[in-house]
Amino acid sequence: MDRVDRRTFIGASGAAVGLSAAAFGDSPDHTGTDTSWMPENTRSSLEKNVADLVARTPLMDTHEHLPPEKDRVADADNPDADHAPDFSIFFTHYAGSDLQVAGMPEEDYRRLMSRKLSPGEKWRLVKPWYDRCRNTGYLLCARESLRALHGETDLRDDNIEQISERVKQDIRPGFYRRVLRDIAGIEHAQVNCLKSGTFRESEPASDLLSFDLSTVSLASSVSMKTLERCAGGPVHTLQDAHAAIDRAFERFGPRAIAMKDQSAYNRRLLYEEVSDADAAPLFERFARNQQSLSPTEREALQNNLFRRCLRRAEDYRLPVKLHTGYYAGHKHMPLERVRHNFTDLCRIIAEFPGVNFVLMHIGYPYQHELTALCKHYPNVYADMCWAWIIDPVSGAHFMKTFLTAAPACKLLSFGGDYLYVELVPGHARIARQGITRAITELVLSGWLAESDVPELVERVMRGNAHELFDLDRVLRNASGA
Ligand SMILES: [Zn+2]
Repeated sequence: MDRVDRRTFIGASGAAVGLSAAAFGDSPDHTGTDTSWMPENTRSSLEKNVADLVARTPLMDTHEHLPPEKDRVADADNPDADHAPDFSIFFTHYAGSDLQVAGMPEEDYRRLMSRKLSPGEKWRLVKPWYDRCRNTGYLLCARESLRALHGETDLRDDNIEQISERVKQDIRPGFYRRVLRDIAGIEHAQVNCLKSGTFRESEPASDLLSFDLSTVSLASSVSMKTLERCAGGPVHTLQDAHAAIDRAFERFGPRAIAMKDQSAYNRRLLYEEVSDADAAPLFERFARNQQSLSPTEREALQNNLFRRCLRRAEDYRLPVKLHTGYYAGHKHMPLERVRHNFTDLCRIIAEFPGVNFVLMHIGYPYQHELTALCKHYPNVYADMCWAWIIDPVSGAHFMKTFLTAAPACKLLSFGGDYLYVELVPGHARIARQGITRAITELVLSGWLAESDVPELVERVMRGNAHELFDLDRVLRNASGA
């Protein structure tokens, strides 16, 4: 163990900051540099140094669900669009689950999101429930986003009108770049757009955003419509379905940053080998009548199709991102299935050594097993996307234990995992706080040399994502598209 040498760290951290700032281009100084979350009385000089370094290092964001910015801009003035552009934006998405689990009636939550009530009426509706769950990571994220975007520490009777005005005014062309780069200190974000089907074709990848190729409707929740769209004609046989999958990868693979699948919401992740001979009659029956397969038969067919996708992902060198662990939403998580995610995945991890598997959300609450997988298999990576706000303290604890057990190159430290870009800055602030805590505590407990801190921070916040995902290839192919 190296002796803690403050001068070494300060000297080294200066160099790392210079490198990161250069990589960030000529963007204005982002508010990631704000370390006001740190209570004054707990700031040690070490923690302050780590916080400054973490604040100045841009984050590579490996997972968001952002819809196209132009849709958000168009929706802002559309009375029929979902979700009003007012202060309730801070209670969308994940916060809505905590509010309802805390007792807010579903109908009242719908009214909160609607355009039918004034900000004052909405505030009266949500306040009692907000008070009951304001302690969670989701609601902390709402406040941290509010602080980053509007300089306010909380929502109050006397500021909701004004904040609502500002939320609406801010939704204009270019606001994604402003929010992600300038406010959240994010260098680049990878997007899995839930509205775009297999791949977002409405805009090319850019220095700010790239897109995942989703295999949900090609394999794990196979849809005849998607297969036929990808095939460009009718699909009757397993051979036709395989050709449709191959065609989807041919078209989108060169432009995609990764393959993404969230079948863990619908089934176990035990993708056993099912031969083409066994799968072919199942597919033909499915093509004639999609309701005709038993659950076991459906899963067997999915296994065959998913393995086809894995082979194509390997051909196109796409890392494979899989949802693991906790379920978004509320009232529907079968924990028995979730707890098998990692043991189930060992099968394909071992059988596809040429595929890099990115296991998302740290498989919460079974994150300990993920550290073991990342330590054991060269082709497994842990992605902390979403994890910082599900359970911030466990997020920091996971990072600490991971960094003393598995190679540091296996850890991706951030993904906002939001539909609404306005909530990403808060998540980035909480992640930076957690990273700072984890690194500081490792140094203080003697598990990490202070002189290793700058390189480690650079690696987990951005370097690993640059190493694993081929953004240069995506940008080259985007400009030629
Ligand atoms: Zn997600």
